[in-house]
Amino acid sequence: MDFRKTAERLIDTCNASTCSFTSARYAMKRLSEAGFESLDLTGDFNVQFGGRYYVNVFDSSVIAFTIGKKFADNNNIRIAASHTDHPCLAIKPNPEMLVKEYGRINVEVYGGPILNTWLDRPLSVAGRVSLKSDNVFAPEKKIVDFDRPVFTIPNLAIHMNRKINEGIELNRQTDMIPLATVIEDELNKNDFFMEYLAKELSVAKDDILDFELYVYNYDKGQFVGLNEEFISCPRLDNTTSVESCVQGIINAGREEGFNIAAMFDNEEVGNRTKQGAASSVLTIIMERVYAKLGFDRDRYLRDLTDGFLLSIDVAHACHPNRSEKADPTNVNILNQGVIIKRAASQTYATDCESVGIIEQLCHKYDVKYQKFANRSDGTTGSTLGSPASTLMAMKAVDIGIPMLAMHSAREMMGVKDQVYLEQLVNAFFTE
Ligand SMILES: [Zn+2]
Repeated sequence: MDFRKTAERLIDTCNASTCSFTSARYAMKRLSEAGFESLDLTGDFNVQFGGRYYVNVFDSSVIAFTIGKKFADNNNIRIAASHTDHPCLAIKPNPEMLVKEYGRINVEVYGGPILNTWLDRPLSVAGRVSLKSDNVFAPEKKIVDFDRPVFTIPNLAIHMNRKINEGIELNRQTDMIPLATVIEDELNKNDFFMEYLAKELSVAKDDILDFELYVYNYDKGQFVGLNEEFISCPRLDNTTSVESCVQGIINAGREEGFNIAAMFDNEEVGNRTKQGAASSVLTIIMERVYAKLGFDRDRYLRDLTDGFLLSIDVAHACHPNRSEKADPTNVNILNQGVIIKRAASQTYATDCESVGIIEQLCHKYDVKYQKFANRSDGTTGSTLGSPASTLMAMKAVDIGIPMLAMHSAREMMGVKDQVYLEQLVNAFFTE
């Protein structure tokens, strides 16, 4: 087990996965390099037994799959799912905001970031832009990543707010506005950002119709700890899981059945979009594949309800300075294995049959794991597992690596846990 090499590959993926669009793009690049064939969501699915494919779902989600040489009587459908988005700031239309000579950018909060961790960081921009075209119903689309620090949100000096260390509430409209420039050219002061964006895309400013642009932390991932046993890195939620999905589907060793790695957008805002985990898109793709392979709808529905969903997202490790926040009997520590999550409220899709399956898989393939439950008087987290399993009535389980500082601009995990997670997903697609 090469913990270091796996961690370095994960950090590279975090650096490339700066928003859901670049995350999906990077996953598709690696699937393509591994020999997976691209299928158009709206095109003919020319699929065959023994084939390996991926579908670009509205540019920010990816469904990759391998079809076995034949289908068995049962246990055919296995799905590993994760999410491509992360909590951040989204740039609004008409973004230029001027105060004195400062050029600032109007943003709104996407998902649930820890706001103060976004201050005093080198920030960059990535996302998607739509451009004028000859076909009204098919504007040209471009994925863009500035890939250099262009904004920052400076803290107010302690001398101007003596109470800052008593805790301050940051206003989402007024305190989270990134500074982009000092206006020296009066002529372009009202569209300085759109001018900059047009130059970045090498297009005329008037050709830009609209955009979905996200501000991301430009910090790079680093090893931390006396023995470099930790990774401190932006976007570990949920790049660790996307990475395990991509690795797992590429290494899928099963000769029979239907292996699927689903990487959905919009988990951080509730999954309920056409490219989110609460979308019908995955069932549409699976049903079309079954039809193309010559199976009838009844066979598809039987296999669907006999399927298994492995919902992968990060989990809370016990915090060293606030250990009282952890459950009294389920205390999870970094580098001690994959976490299996359970909540009576059903915010996790897990039940004891599905946990039994995962535990047997862990025993057989020698994967370290631990179990998680929330403190009964604390609030619970949620994942894409429950919404996805209401659409796809199959056994499901929520798992993920343990981490600290979830939703901070820089999150923290143990080096070893990525290896355990990837071992488990590989086993899931191989057994
Ligand atoms: Zn997540």
